[in-house]
Amino acid sequence: MKHHVILGAGPAGIIAAETLRKHRPQDRITVVGDEREAPYSRMAIPYLLIGNIEEKGTWLRKGASHYADLRIELVQARASRVDAAGKQVLLDNGQSLDFDQLLIATGSHPVRPPIPGLDLPGVHTCWTLEDARAIAARAQPGAKVLQMGAGFIGCIIMEALKQRGVELSVVEMGDRMVPRMMGPMAGGMIRDWCETQGVKVYTSTKVEAIESADAPQGLVGKIAGALGLGDSSASGSGQGLRVRLSGGRTVEADLVISATGVRPAIGFLKDSGITCLQGVLTDERMQSNVPGIYAAGDCAEAFDKVSGQTIVSAIQPNAAEQARVAALNMAGQATTLRGVTQINVLDTLGLISTSFGNWQGVEGGQHAELTDAAAGRHLSLQFQGDVMVGCNSVGWTDHVGVMRGLVEGQVRLGEWKDKLLQDPTQLMAAYLACAQGQSEWSGAQDTRRR
Ligand SMILES: Cc1cc2nc3c(=O)[nH]c(=O)nc-3n(C[C@H](O)[C@H](O)[C@H](O)COP(=O)(O)OP(=O)(O)OC[C@H]3O[C@@H](n4cnc5c(N)ncnc54)[C@H](O)[C@@H]3O)c2cc1C
Repeated sequence: MKHHVILGAGPAGIIAAETLRKHRPQDRITVVGDEREAPYSRMAIPYLLIGNIEEKGTWLRKGASHYADLRIELVQARASRVDAAGKQVLLDNGQSLDFDQLLIATGSHPVRPPIPGLDLPGVHTCWTLEDARAIAARAQPGAKVLQMGAGFIGCIIMEALKQRGVELSVVEMGDRMVPRMMGPMAGGMIRDWCETQGVKVYTSTKVEAIESADAPQGLVGKIAGALGLGDSSASGSGQGLRVRLSGGRTVEADLVISATGVRPAIGFLKDSGITCLQGVLTDERMQSNVPGIYAAGDCAEAFDKVSGQTIVSAIQPNAAEQARVAALNMAGQATTLRGVTQINVLDTLGLISTSFGNWQGVEGGQHAELTDAAAGRHLSLQFQGDVMVGCNSVGWTDHVGVMRGLVEGQVRLGEWKDKLLQDPTQLMAAYLACAQGQSEWSGAQDTRRR
């Protein structure tokens, strides 16, 4: 009987534990998670904030005895160190766990920008259920909410906040919204759309400090106020916070949400001998450089066959697939990952945009772009040779699966490449003509949100 230890009780950890149980009925399986919650899905937090579900709806598995029935031991503790050679994990409660095989599935955690005032009451990340409870308490109808960051997670949260009836401002350091996923045209269209939906968007703007509104205003704030750069007079005052932006403007807020990006939660692996780049570096079986130690999910760095590089692709479908592959290998069934690709389908206040693969294009590649601003539609396709290696779209809900299929399947387009360069809207025809029989991936019908 082997002992499989899994660090992290998020989707990757739980899917891995269940897969292992299915294939290794006799083995011992322990899942270590550091949150004081039943295992849950962060993805469900926006639905909780909207009020579509209750907290229980975020739980990954609903049955009270689900884990006990599967003989999956849940340990609530934080892994503080891994002794790879000695096959032991040290926990922050002073205990240790010996393992035969280890899966690191600790996900990612929000980055903490060096901004004064980030510790003030009323400033929160939106990453955990605990964060969601704090946000729900302050984000009451009419409350002033300032969100730092308009990246992928930021855009998802906006939807929930708007539906709660708050007065929302978004501050993004980049020159457009979702700058790490969308080109200037797409990012600009998303920004315009948000503004028509009543969100105040500040791009190319930094939050310089967050202050308690009771604290005396600094000299810069006073000058800004005198120059009429403060927004408080225009919209009434927030209950507790004053946010200073670059350019001298100040915005009052009842709640500040920090959504400035995430990083793999792998600090505890320092000096463990497990190779980490951005995340835990894995091979095609999700194994690290140490035999018997695997990684999956937001903390893992896996091979992206489209870019030819290893990447961390922090989205749930990748976490689930990587966990399945890692667990099968841990169970003794040699299985390889088909690769990860940057796949992002975003719903920003009802506007659907996508970003797949090398959306910025590759050196020496070709590019086709089409924008119908009046209809709120935009397509940008990137080619290398006759393969579409990436794309951005705004407002094209009907072809999401096709775009994904062409990029992920690395479909050779032949003469269809030139047709797409002339008319990018011919995507479906190109897919039907070229993809069948070439790609193992058959996602043309898959238009779900990621
Ligand atoms: C608001 C929000 C909306 C999102 N929406 C989407 C979406 O629409 N689509 C999508 O694909 N993805 C979405 N995501 C991202 C998605 O939630 C993640 O990709 C997914 O949770 C990754 O799963 P994971 O198991 O790898 O990591 P996690 O879910 O982060 O789970 C890892 C667990 O390990 C724990 N842990 C960390 N360090 C330790 C340690 N040292 N010891 C023990 N435990 C530890 C963590 O606390 C956590 O509980 C969203 C995320 C958020 C926050």
